[in-house]
Parts: sequence; C-alpha cells; structure tokens
Amino acid sequence: MTLLDARKLVSKKVDELKSRVDKLSKKPSLVIIRVGDDFASGKYVANKIKKCDEVGIDSKIIHFDGDVKQEVVEETILNLNKDEDITGILLQLPIPKHLDEDYLTNLIEDEKDVDGFTIGNMGKLSLGLESNVACTPRGIITLLKEFNIEIEGQDVLIINRSNIVGKPLAQLFLKENATVTIAHSKTKNLKEKIVLSDIVVTAVGKANFLRADDFKNNTTIIDVSINFNELGKMCGDVAKEDYDVLVNEKQCNLTPVPNGVGQMTVIELIEQTIEIAEKRERI
Ligand code: NAP
Repeated sequence: MTLLDARKLVSKKVDELKSRVDKLSKKPSLVIIRVGDDFASGKYVANKIKKCDEVGIDSKIIHFDGDVKQEVVEETILNLNKDEDITGILLQLPIPKHLDEDYLTNLIEDEKDVDGFTIGNMGKLSLGLESNVACTPRGIITLLKEFNIEIEGQDVLIINRSNIVGKPLAQLFLKENATVTIAHSKTKNLKEKIVLSDIVVTAVGKANFLRADDFKNNTTIIDVSINFNELGKMCGDVAKEDYDVLVNEKQCNLTPVPNGVGQMTVIELIEQTIEIAEKRERI
C-alpha cells in the first residue's frame, strides 16, 4: 500500500488556510507560553511559529525562565484570556515540576484553548459536543480521511492512554463509528490485539517497539511517537528497517516518522486557531 507522508497534504492545507485568513476582517493571533529551555519543546515551538508565518497569522512567544513563579504564569494567562486581540493561547508542555500543569492548563479559557486540553473542551468532546480538540488526534483523523482510509466499522487499537493522545483520539474514532480498544503498559496479550486490528495507532515512545511481524497484512499503522535512536535520528515506535516489508510485502499503510503525524499536529493547531477566529466573526 503506501507510506502516509503528510507533506503534500500539509502544503495543500497551507494554501487553503491562507485564503481562509484572507477572508477574515482581523488576523488571528496565537500566543505560545514557554517555560524553561527544554530542547525538544524549543523545536516544537519554532515549528509552530514558522507555520503561523507561512499561513499568515500573528504569533508570539512568551518565554519564561525555568524557575518562574506559578503566580507569574497564572497572571499572564488571565491577562491573555481578557485580551480581545488574542485568538488562541497555548501552554507548551512539559513545564517544570514546581508548576501545577493541570491548574495552569485549565486557566486558559475554553474558547482560546487551541490545544483542546482544558476540562471543558475534553468534557465536551467526551459528550460528543462541539469543542476545541487536541491537535494530534485531530490530525490523525484528517490524515486517514485524506488518504481515503475507511474508519467506520473498523477495529482500531490505540496503544496509549494519555490525555493528549489516546483519550481524545478514542473519542474521535468513536464519533467516526469505529470500534475502539485502548491499550497501555498493563495490557495483557498486546500482540494478539495488534494482529486483530485494522488500524493500529502507536504512541508508546519506544524506538523499535513494533516490528513488521507484529502486524497482519493490510493494517493501517499510525505511528505518533517521536523518539531519537542511538545515532540521534528521529524515529517512531515502528522499526524503520521494516518500513519496506510493511508497505510493499504486507500491503500496510504506515505514517513515517518524521513527516507523518508530527506535521499534522502543527497544521491542525493553526487550523483550530483560524476556526476560533471564524467563529468569533460569525457571532
Ligand atoms: P505518555 O504519556 O508517556 O504515554 C505513553 C503511553 O504508552 C502510556 O499510555 C503507556 O501506558 C503506554 N505504554 C508504555 N509502555 C507500554 C508497553 N510496553 N505496552 C503498551 N503500552 C505501553 O506519552 P505521550 O505524551 O502520550 O506521548 C507518547 C509519544 O507520542 C511520545 O513519543 C511523544 O513524543 C509522541 N507525541 C507525538 C506527537 C506528535 O505530534 N507527533 C504529539 C504528542 C506526543 P501507561 O499509561 O500504563 O503508562
């Protein structure tokens, strides 16, 4: 089958989003709050800012030192909530341990929560109501639809139960009428579940966790993980040397790492920011 390379889809989406921004009376504006100097976070934030520029929306980083006091971040979020000129607010995770991640995430107004992580947005998603939705799960559904991969009625296995990947993704798959199983580190007989699944989403965070032998023919494999191998190269959970066998012999669809889900996450973030601005202008 095929490698589900997201790059073409992303560049198509950039063009589409640019024209949606042109139709707005005011440019959307995204603020990213970053705390400390985590290397990976710095890279993710830079990618997000770059995409904002490409699409033509305003963006700004508020960067605090790693020892910033909770009250300072709190006050910043509350001020951004009130600021009419700000469309979306994102607190780049992880943040240092002395800060209360759940509390600060939930201080962001639901409407401006472009990551879809607040209790309000996650709750609405679970009830099947309209909400902002976590960007990685959103991107996975968009990617599957773009490649015309059937979701309705399919047996989907998600190997991850985190709040940012597994839980919201399960809700989105249910909405699309898939049959969903969530696996995690305490799951028994994982391999048996993998071979019974039509779509397997893996976000374990371990290089070479899955090999070609683990899958039946024609499986669609969505590899969310961002790992770095012993040579410092980015890779997912699925062993890279097995890509060829999976795609050409076992006729599987597979998202590569890089250029798969990660690309989708960023573009969905931008799209969600634009959606918030469009909704505001309709009100
Ligand atoms: P996380 O919270 O650590 O989740 C890892 C999940 O894997 C947990 O549910 C864990 O189970 C499960 N797990 C660990 N070992 C397992 C095993 N042996 N068998 C089955 N399940 C196992 O991490 P996360 O924040 O969700 O991120 C996961 C990965 O996705 C990371 O590599 C991250 O970098 C990547 N990611 C990528 C994007 C993107 O845009 N591409 C976005 C978000 C995250 P327990 O719950 O029992 O611990």
